[in-house]
Amino acid sequence: MKGFLAKATRQHTKNHNSRLVFRIIYEDEAISRADIARKTGLTRTTVSTVVSELIEQGLIEETGTGQSSGGRLPVLLRVAHEAHGVLALSFEDMRIVGALVDMRGGIQQRVSLPLYGYRPEELPDYLSRLIDELRADATTHILGIGLSMPGIVDPLRGIVRRAVNFGLVDAPLRQVLQERYHLPVYLDNAAHLAALAEYMFGDGAASGNLAVISVGVGVGAGVVLNGTLFHGDGFGAGEIGHVVVADNGIRCNCGNVGCLETVASVPAILRAARRWFGDPSSQLRALAPSAAAVDLDVVRRALEAGDPGVTAVIEEVGHYLGIAIAHIVGLLNIERIVVTGAIAVLGPPLLEAIRASLARHALAPLAAMTNVELIPERSDAVLLGITAMVLDQELGLLHSSVRLS
Ligand SMILES: [Zn+2]
Repeated sequence: MKGFLAKATRQHTKNHNSRLVFRIIYEDEAISRADIARKTGLTRTTVSTVVSELIEQGLIEETGTGQSSGGRLPVLLRVAHEAHGVLALSFEDMRIVGALVDMRGGIQQRVSLPLYGYRPEELPDYLSRLIDELRADATTHILGIGLSMPGIVDPLRGIVRRAVNFGLVDAPLRQVLQERYHLPVYLDNAAHLAALAEYMFGDGAASGNLAVISVGVGVGAGVVLNGTLFHGDGFGAGEIGHVVVADNGIRCNCGNVGCLETVASVPAILRAARRWFGDPSSQLRALAPSAAAVDLDVVRRALEAGDPGVTAVIEEVGHYLGIAIAHIVGLLNIERIVVTGAIAVLGPPLLEAIRASLARHALAPLAAMTNVELIPERSDAVLLGITAMVLDQELGLLHSSVRLS
């Protein structure tokens, strides 16, 4: 399945019918040729031809027989999801994590290296150590390599345009890795990929529209419109963390004052909570030995105990996130909005504050039809998002706006 056949697979699956049939089989656990024809509107002959080709490529396989409606028992088809995988690389808090992920999002193998163990120009070699380790033991066919990169990423050209903390400026990572491995390489930023993961491997969205806001050290969003990840004209769609929302706020890392990130992020919460620690009536004093020892878990416990100062801090965070969501709702009228990231441990009090703020800041009928959810961070959200990106680009499992040639 390497070399010629893999290339043929890519060319073939660009074919619309083939992608359509493959997607229908992927969405079903097991499905017959007749049902595929019914669902796609393609003729039985076309379906049979496409199915034969997909079987030949090892992308699908036959799996027993289904119920008969009178005649012969129909043969069922399913995706051979463990026979193919994606090499996913993600910049996490302290490490760069590499994983081999199968077509259903199952993590087959995982390796990692410290986040800061190289000079910027050595990054491709550093990433290659992870890729080589994963490839050495892989028995699956690798569909492609996907990377989640910090900063602003141009997924069309496969370039990290600017990741200041890592000293990367216009780094042509795709070109370098593609030449080295002769595999397709795709990159995007983590907030976009978290949205793709939720869309493809989470509860998705019936309408095809979904916004996912990730709140941790920073705040970023990913927006899926009509089943398509929306990047924006400069690939900066979803950069809501650096929209100024607080007059007279504090200076942000980006240089502006009062960005959403400075009032509604984990560092913002800890800053406010540590100030409240100084108040004699603060319950935080019973939960942590010093202001510096107040972490998000301490904040959560004080919130659950009903500490009024901490409750006020979280209400303010909900207030600002609600305003940001009101803008998304006013502009796009997206029904399902997910807030996730480290902040999700704060649970119902935060969610209620966000919903109350949204109700105050958006047009009533639009706010009423919007379902805001607070979902704990999936441990492998970004790895799954990377997998969704590669499956989409290589096999057409999502409709992404960024079509790469
Ligand atoms: Zn900023």
